[in-house]
Amino acid sequence: MRILLIEDDKTVSQNISLILKRENIVVDCSFKAEDGLEDARHYEYDLIILDLGLPDMDGCEAIRRLRSMQISTPILVLSGMAAIDKKVNALAFGCDDYLTKPFDTRELIARINALVRRSKGYSENIIRTGDMEVNLNSKIVTITGKTLHLTSKEYALFELLALRKGATINKEQFLNHLYGGMDEPEGKIIDVFLCKIRRKIEKLSPQEDYIQTVWGRGYILKDLPVLQ
Ligand code: CA
Repeated sequence: MRILLIEDDKTVSQNISLILKRENIVVDCSFKAEDGLEDARHYEYDLIILDLGLPDMDGCEAIRRLRSMQISTPILVLSGMAAIDKKVNALAFGCDDYLTKPFDTRELIARINALVRRSKGYSENIIRTGDMEVNLNSKIVTITGKTLHLTSKEYALFELLALRKGATINKEQFLNHLYGGMDEPEGKIIDVFLCKIRRKIEKLSPQEDYIQTVWGRGYILKDLPVLQ
């Protein structure tokens, strides 16, 4: 998962970054609204976390501009202002959720997960395909009830496939979500990860190869009929 954080308070920004990194989320930080808008224009994010009190622009104006740029990425507003008017205003301008500072870490993570999941069209925490279940909350993948033991990097990569089940994900998208352009390794690393994941899947499910390779384009997590 890759998140854009627009927050001018360096300490708050650093704290949130740490919380997100612990969850294996790639985070890009902007300290000004203008820079954030620029990042949102150039990169693909799963979520934008936006502080309302920014030095160069009102947060609601930032939301309005993001939406007018046809950026439909979910926006979670973080603000020290608990006033109902502010919340209603931000929601009216097109933000998707609102959290007042100080907030609980677990609540932040839960809201992020729910927003991202919903934006990909899933109302549940569990993504199913065939005999496989991906639990986005516990980050546990099972096949016929048996746990598929993935490393945190493998899970992060697999989660991207799961959230876009049935769609091709190319190497650039994988790299973006796993490394966000920082110390980015070569695309070959994605093939290595996928190969490892496949081998693990094969042990639990020798008959079904859940991951499909689209030569020269990327990988797909197959959208299979769910077996009861
Ligand atoms: Ca601020």
